[in-house]
Amino acid sequence: MLIANALAALPGEKDFRRVDILVREGKIARIAAAGSLADVSAADLSSADSILADEETIDATGLMMFPGAIDPHVHFDEPGFTQREDFLHGSSEAARGGVTTVIDMPCTSLPPVTSLAALKNKLAIVSKSAVVDFAFYGGVNGLFDDASMDLAIDALAPHVVGFKCYFVSGMESFTAVTPEQFARAYNRCAAAGRPLLLHAEDPAVIAAAEAALGAARGRKAPTWKDYYASRPMEAETAACSAALRLAGARPRWLHIVHIGTAEAAALVAASGASCETCGHYLAFDEDDFQALGAALKTAPPVKEASQKALLWKLLAEGAISFVASDHAGAPDYEKFTGNPLSAYGGIPGTGTFFPYLLSEGLFAKRLSLPRFLEATSGAAAARYGISGGKGSLAEGKDADFVLVDPEASTLLDPASMYSKSRITPFAGMRLAGRIKETFVRGSRVYGEGGILALPGSGKFIQWGYR
Ligand SMILES: [Zn+2]
Repeated sequence: MLIANALAALPGEKDFRRVDILVREGKIARIAAAGSLADVSAADLSSADSILADEETIDATGLMMFPGAIDPHVHFDEPGFTQREDFLHGSSEAARGGVTTVIDMPCTSLPPVTSLAALKNKLAIVSKSAVVDFAFYGGVNGLFDDASMDLAIDALAPHVVGFKCYFVSGMESFTAVTPEQFARAYNRCAAAGRPLLLHAEDPAVIAAAEAALGAARGRKAPTWKDYYASRPMEAETAACSAALRLAGARPRWLHIVHIGTAEAAALVAASGASCETCGHYLAFDEDDFQALGAALKTAPPVKEASQKALLWKLLAEGAISFVASDHAGAPDYEKFTGNPLSAYGGIPGTGTFFPYLLSEGLFAKRLSLPRFLEATSGAAAARYGISGGKGSLAEGKDADFVLVDPEASTLLDPASMYSKSRITPFAGMRLAGRIKETFVRGSRVYGEGGILALPGSGKFIQWGYR
């Protein structure tokens, strides 16, 4: 396959370069100046030695070509919670949004991925349905004793790209860790050479806030303001401070997920640990709960309006390493409970993550091209040990890419989503740029006809993938 005359976003380059890209056996075989591999305007492909006569040529004139996005934080819920999402729907939605690799969380499947047997069980099930490539995290939760935790981390490490734990969890099947358990897990993960990902909200800060609110509210029904106030920004900064203290002098294997508080992100970045934020923290704030309600509910919640610009700045500087969707849909009956405190927290965001950052990050000039590429693919690939094969448009890497029409726009319409849940705060947003096609290892997975890949075409990848 030849992609001719594309405006390609190549790693490290300050601006797009007009190139031809030759794809062989799913890999990027050559990147050369436009016209050097084929002159499509001359319609004489035979003159280019390297092009086979019957080879597909995509005339990408006028299109931008990006590395496929990597969404390093999704909850595809299979097996166990498939009323919310499954791998077929979730990975299809990913492909629609330009995502070619997802990394799935261990906590929202049953059994959770806290043993090698559970990982193998999940792999056997989701391998049949994924349409984009995928990797897993292993889980560390409060149900482990010391010995079983060590054994589980050691057994899972070769097959996962990191481990996930919580300081605060609403799940009975995946409980929070104590500070002692966290410290033990961190050391074990570091020894195994895998990042430990933390949901960083401090349980004591949240408990105190909830108690104060409950007392003040009396018998009145909880409001969205109550939900927001129950998970204050101090919960994030306190949890990040505690995690850094427990991780000790070398916190480089610590990664904080879905940060919404700029102060917490700056603290993490200064320590040498890493963090991510999500599109919803960049796009929305607490005032939006009035209009959006349950569609905007996540944990942690979106923050004060002042945080959005600060988060964009930290992302532009690289202090926030990358962006993830934290894709976590839920059906209407779990979202619209009529009670802000019991409504399911989560947004099905894997399809909006790349289009949103493209429009509001790159095109709106909040992010340089190199930082946009890092934030949507390169930095996550490096952090999770898959940059030998994924994360940029480079010779020898997988031909995972997205073709974007920069002149067109995208209306984020829930009716066009493939995920099981379509309850999203991004509904109705108009973004600059439109994804035309998404390719995974040289195969067209999404295009004009919708999802074009067969279920099961997505490949399981592990740390060290190349
Ligand atoms: Zn999550």
